[in-house]
Amino acid sequence: MSSVEEFRAEIRAWLADHLVGEFAELRGRGGPGREHEAFEGRLAWERHMAAHGWTCVGWPVEHGGRGASLDEQIAFHEEYALADAPARVNHIGEQLLGPTLIAFGTQEQKKRFLPPIVAVEELWCQGYSEPDAGSDLANVRTRGALSPDGSQWVVDGQKIWTSLAHEAQWCFVVARTEPGSRRHAGLSYLLVPLDQPGGRVDVRPIVQLTGTSEFNEVFFDGARTDASHVVGEPGDGWRIAMATLGFERGVSTLGQQVGFRREWDALAELARKNGAIADPLIRDRLVQAWIDLEAMAASARRGVDPSVGKLHWAAWHRGLGELAMDVCGAASTIAAGEPYELDDWQRLFLFSRADTIYAGSDEIQKNIVAERLLGLPKEARV
Ligand SMILES: Cc1cc2nc3c(=O)[nH]c(=O)nc-3n(C[C@H](O)[C@H](O)[C@H](O)COP(=O)(O)OP(=O)(O)OC[C@H]3O[C@@H](n4cnc5c(N)ncnc54)[C@H](O)[C@@H]3O)c2cc1C
Repeated sequence: MSSVEEFRAEIRAWLADHLVGEFAELRGRGGPGREHEAFEGRLAWERHMAAHGWTCVGWPVEHGGRGASLDEQIAFHEEYALADAPARVNHIGEQLLGPTLIAFGTQEQKKRFLPPIVAVEELWCQGYSEPDAGSDLANVRTRGALSPDGSQWVVDGQKIWTSLAHEAQWCFVVARTEPGSRRHAGLSYLLVPLDQPGGRVDVRPIVQLTGTSEFNEVFFDGARTDASHVVGEPGDGWRIAMATLGFERGVSTLGQQVGFRREWDALAELARKNGAIADPLIRDRLVQAWIDLEAMAASARRGVDPSVGKLHWAAWHRGLGELAMDVCGAASTIAAGEPYELDDWQRLFLFSRADTIYAGSDEIQKNIVAERLLGLPKEARV
């Protein structure tokens, strides 16, 4: 057996042994559009994984990981999805901030922040977007300034669409720390605690189309963090922020294909059960979705460009949500219960509208493909 197969067998056996008892009820719970589901239970499950060394498997051993190779990480994420294990609660810390600190953090930052991510004791959120800075992130206006004695950063401003800020203890914030600077210059990457006295940080959940709240507005009003909690040099935050985005578009999508395949299987099963499969158009669309999924998996294995990959999967998943509504038929337009209780298909349909927006919208991905892959002239920028 190759080391990857051994690794796969080990995680498969561990999941079979441990996703039992009270944890068995967590199967299939959580994930985009359903983060509110069994949050406390999923937190307990992830801490259980941590206690057995199954968090941060791709991190180097010296930082509390297993040093798993890319193939082993793929195997881990595939087995995790195949076991229908609950969606992770600390993916932002594990997949975004952790790798950023490992690459750019000081020894002191690594020592302070990595162990609680591995142990799932501190949850993180990503403070990038603002009302006037989304696709155009360089327009960030949140300000950071050192206190007169130089001991602390003082942060003022507003972030928006901050996923899971209502569950997190810490936020990595892109803030303008050089007054008068413009665009990519003069930004810093600050690590800010969310639990602060006197209303210095106010997290306000935003109600989504799905009726639930996964992201938030976060207001900083004189929020404090230690002067040492800046990643990279002050003013060099753009470079660090872009590196984090690279991690977001990379490892974190491993295993996604398996999750998609499970959704496709469940939809085909539903179509068989409710008779929708008798409609040749539905059959045709199901087959087309299956072919597209196979094509996507094949190009992922060949190492597709991240922007092309994002365009593919976002369009595919949004299309699956639309197909699900047609498979469900007229009933799909009615909420299952009061006051706004949606079933999994309705939630998939509504939440998948966001797939073409977050982690870089379709239009932004197309700009990247045009400019960086095809060498077309750059878009005019002010
Ligand atoms: C579910 C979800 C979770 C999110 N979680 C987080 C989070 O945790 N942390 C965080 O910081 N942010 C988060 N975001 C925000 C996300 O990063 C932004 O929504 C995204 O970057 C788009 O920015 P915007 O919403 O300001 O839209 P805008 O940038 O205002 O874009 C509006 C429209 O204009 C188009 N557009 C913009 N610029 C161009 C251009 N140059 N050329 C062509 N078309 C263009 C866009 O494609 C879009 O269709 C999340 C968003 C969603 C939907």
